Amino acid sequence: VAALALSGCSGGERGGDAGGASDAAGFAADSTIGVALPDKTSENWVLAGGLFEDGLEEAGFKGDVQYAPASNTVAEQQNQISAMVTNGAKVIVIGAKDGKQLGTQLQQAADAGVKIIAYDRLIENTENVDYYVAFDNFKVGQLQGQALLEGLEARSGHAAPWNIELFSGSPDDANSAVFFDGAMEVLQPKIDDGTLVVASGQTDIAQTATQGWEAENAQSRMDSILTSTYSSSDIDGVLSPNDNLARAIITSAKQAGKDISKITVTGQDSEVESVKSIMAGEQYSTINKDTTLLVEQTIKMIQQLQKGEEADVNDTEQYDNGVKVVPAYLLDPVIVTKENAAEAYANNPNLLEIVTAAQ
Ligand code: BGC
Repeated sequence: VAALALSGCSGGERGGDAGGASDAAGFAADSTIGVALPDKTSENWVLAGGLFEDGLEEAGFKGDVQYAPASNTVAEQQNQISAMVTNGAKVIVIGAKDGKQLGTQLQQAADAGVKIIAYDRLIENTENVDYYVAFDNFKVGQLQGQALLEGLEARSGHAAPWNIELFSGSPDDANSAVFFDGAMEVLQPKIDDGTLVVASGQTDIAQTATQGWEAENAQSRMDSILTSTYSSSDIDGVLSPNDNLARAIITSAKQAGKDISKITVTGQDSEVESVKSIMAGEQYSTINKDTTLLVEQTIKMIQQLQKGEEADVNDTEQYDNGVKVVPAYLLDPVIVTKENAAEAYANNPNLLEIVTAAQ
């Protein structure tokens, strides 16, 4: 088998024989590819499912795209991945619900010769993850931190010091800490020199976390911070890790009678409602992580694996999952505010229409 694998014979040409032993030579061009997505808490996950279905079919594969259901999500995702292995998937793309709890299923996958691509969220504490494909998460955080500073200057109507509050994502998502660390790289020096004041005192990621990335959790935390800390003072800005939470934070601030046009709230994902909010002068910024590009890159990696090649990567340093550094392909996120929205969404007719209509 080894000699055959080294002979340069491509898996695609060899057609139907996709037995596990011929790993290095790829697998059949019409193989089943599993895609296990976490939930629908952000529009990008909803978009990704459809794009994977269409893209995999177009590439000649059989796609098996599944979302973990809203309840018992971690266990259900584990079951879905196991079933994909049993059903003969050659590659499984995983947007993990809890990236630390897939060890058993990924060992099962490795034993069956199935390649694993972590999609958008890193999978941790296992050697059985072959690749990671995502937008550069640390850069997302840095861009959010910079946007917050920029917005404070532009909208607060006064000079520093500015009162801000910090929110981060779900603790079971490896991205949450990376976004937060990227943002704090920009914000911490400004907290240290007194430019920024986190008046609640809640600066630790454990205090700022939003379980499950659920909007209602961010809204109730914001409600209590506003009551405890800002009943007679102004809040100038909020670091929000994504759009869904940004809108919950904005709702809370409005209900507390705050003037949202003066408050800077960041975001991420370019969700329709947030782009509208930005154009209306409420949310300050979002991040454009074009799901189409991320799915395209993933399918390109699968095609390379199908041919028995290594998949392209452009980062072999950043994503240590606790057991190994996972080779990654990172795409470039783009910051979006009202000012550059038309340019940023030039290739997205849907969002461009919202921007143009509001201008
Ligand atoms: C994604 C974000 C998303 C969040 C909540 C993260 O892992 O990178 O784009 O907003 O999950 O779904």
